[in-house]
Amino acid sequence: MGCGTIASSPSGRGVPDAIIIGQIAEKFTAGGRGGKGNDMETPDRILRLRHRILDYDWGSPTAIADLLGIANPDGKPMAELWMGAHPKAPSAVETAAGWIGLDELTRRHPDLVLGPALRRRFGDAFPFLFKVIAAARPLSIQVHPDAAQAARGFARENRAGLPLDSPRRNYRDPNPKPELIYACGCFRLLCGLRDARKTAELLGRLCPSGLMDEAAQLAADPGREGLKRLVAGLLALSGDEGRERRRDLIAEALAQSPRLNEPGLGWIAHLARFFPDDIGVLAPAWMNPVILEPGRALFLPPGTLHAYVDGLGIELMADSDNVIRGGLTPKHVDAAELLATIDFAQSGVHEIAPEPAGACETRYVPPVGRFALSVIRTRPGASFRCESGEGVEILLCMEGEGVLEEAGASPRRLAVSRGASFLVPAAVSSYALSGELLAFRAFVPQPVEVNRFSFPHAT
Ligand SMILES: [Zn+2]
Repeated sequence: MGCGTIASSPSGRGVPDAIIIGQIAEKFTAGGRGGKGNDMETPDRILRLRHRILDYDWGSPTAIADLLGIANPDGKPMAELWMGAHPKAPSAVETAAGWIGLDELTRRHPDLVLGPALRRRFGDAFPFLFKVIAAARPLSIQVHPDAAQAARGFARENRAGLPLDSPRRNYRDPNPKPELIYACGCFRLLCGLRDARKTAELLGRLCPSGLMDEAAQLAADPGREGLKRLVAGLLALSGDEGRERRRDLIAEALAQSPRLNEPGLGWIAHLARFFPDDIGVLAPAWMNPVILEPGRALFLPPGTLHAYVDGLGIELMADSDNVIRGGLTPKHVDAAELLATIDFAQSGVHEIAPEPAGACETRYVPPVGRFALSVIRTRPGASFRCESGEGVEILLCMEGEGVLEEAGASPRRLAVSRGASFLVPAAVSSYALSGELLAFRAFVPQPVEVNRFSFPHAT
């Protein structure tokens, strides 16, 4: 898919949240859940991983399958491949005692998997959740909480007796969810709020009869309170009472947007194809439209409103599934919680500058300390050597073939090919990747690395 094209939509059938594709599930129990483990499973060397793919209905049936060489005979949507220990879809690790969930392995052997340094910094939770995401059509407008909000919200919903899998839940765990998104192809998203004066101007031109008052109010009060009032007013049109006005506004926006030569406003018609009766289709007028070119990455701090439009990317985030939605979704929308979580003071488009680190590696280090992404390209004569030390890593090979060599008392070599994935536990002190391949590496940066952060333009 090239930049500027729109991915075709898969069938819009309703599907549950976490169907497992592949044969990982039955193998999960092979190492024995709930026990203390045994010497055979000791994670003191590099181990193969298998992952689950979630089939959210916005997922592409082909992008992840093509990328990693996975069969998808039924043509199911493959939305997200999860690499990590989150209880919703933990990866499976191949040990000498059989396949075992990464969550379980981490619980049993935290010093070997995470290492003492990480345990001191972040406790015994796995530090990150690493994903491949393939959006064939738009995802919800959403925001993620910071640490204090997540802890409060999780406790509140527990007290209210909401089951963990309730569709009305915003908080499925007590963790914050800062995110990094890296574009494999062109990746389109709405990210953060446009400048308030710009939004006032655009709304006045987009809906000259329907939103004249809102545009004038925002122009008169272009600060965070003015923006909050605007977003609250639009979200209030989501219910039954707002139906008539909502229809008029969407119709007016669809009629006007092709005449306005303004980046992103063409996306209104695209969003309306999937959500014809959702006031969120007006979001390109008040959120920043961003096209991430391949190889570029953004950091989404907690509080940043965002909505992925389409594309194939790599995501890296804290180990959390806390999502508060505001539209463009059939799922639970919580406008009050959304308004309380959005950071109206910042624009929200934060590019992470790629940092070359040696001949084979480019690093993307967001300012959160818990996770960073490396893109590794090896070729004959240029291999990647890693003196790991800070803690656990996950590797995913995207292209090519090569060899993963582990140093230490009992050195060994593992074959690497497209789609192969590995856990590098903290107990492994160094390894090398060679051959001709492209791999992605999720790791925990040294504290000193987390200080380079750019705030570029909104596009
Ligand atoms: Zn998100």
